[in-house]
Amino acid sequence: MPGASKVALSSPIAATVDFERDGVQHGFLRLPHSRDDSAWGSVMIPIAVVKNGSGPTALLTGGNHGDEYEGPVALFDLARSLTAEEVRGRVIMLPAMNYPAFRAGRRTSPIDGGNLNRSFPGRPDGTITEKIADYVARTLLPMADLVLDIHSGGKTLDFLPYAAAHVLPDKAQEQHCFAAVEAFSAPYSLRMLEIDARGLLDTTAEEMGKVFLTTELGGGGTARAETVAIARRGVRNVLRHAGILRGEIERRPTRWFDMPSGDCFVFSEEAGLIEACADLGAAVRAGEVIARVYPIGRTGLAPWEYRSRLDGVLVGRHFPGLIQAGDCMAVIGTVLP
Ligand code: CA
Repeated sequence: MPGASKVALSSPIAATVDFERDGVQHGFLRLPHSRDDSAWGSVMIPIAVVKNGSGPTALLTGGNHGDEYEGPVALFDLARSLTAEEVRGRVIMLPAMNYPAFRAGRRTSPIDGGNLNRSFPGRPDGTITEKIADYVARTLLPMADLVLDIHSGGKTLDFLPYAAAHVLPDKAQEQHCFAAVEAFSAPYSLRMLEIDARGLLDTTAEEMGKVFLTTELGGGGTARAETVAIARRGVRNVLRHAGILRGEIERRPTRWFDMPSGDCFVFSEEAGLIEACADLGAAVRAGEVIARVYPIGRTGLAPWEYRSRLDGVLVGRHFPGLIQAGDCMAVIGTVLP
């Protein structure tokens, strides 16, 4: 057939929910995964759809990284409690998007080592992780007007609880994204700079013109009562902001930070034992020591000192007590008026 090779491959994922049907549906994205313990087996990714007539669509995702728990807790809870009557339009919920990673309590997939949020836009004929990314990018994102991807720091990072969006070339789109961040009403809000924006769900959604926001709501491979409450309030606030849920946005004071340059990130150049010299939320000055790294092979050696390159606030930090060369040690946000 002429041109047949140019026809886009269809996704191997089959949804057990009908995205066009009104009402509440709990189902799966079924992704074929042939393996030793199940020859014709599948990965069953939980999905919920709540739809009522026409209106905007929100795509809410958690578990993009499998060791971050505020998103899964808030979205399993929202999926269980949201009724079609209170919705105008549609809410699509993926509480544990990289489901194999989530089940393993890992950032990346135990099947293929895939980091879902470095795999976008994905491939329909790629690895398991790339197939999930491809389905989200080509099937779910086009349906969505607004996308909220809930992250926290996972096992190796910890953050002040913030919602965030990126500086974008399209200033009208950027304004919509920051308005959604404001509506989320986390205690902190960020104009977020990425270390490397390639492969992110964020970038894929933004390039499609979507209103996109994300969060970092804590970390350390667990979730706290405080950060879960922020996530739970935030998802409903964002749905109210989108006009999908009725009612007033439950606004809370938020403190805005900027990330004006790569100087916001401090990376360790040594391996060793880390001594935090500033905690999350601490004001730091340019030149101030924020951490020391002790060599651990022998006694008697001086620690390396790491300094902030900016005046600002410590918004993120390395979580485990030992650090390796190349690890992100600290993230400094500058205070916006
Ligand atoms: Ca993350």
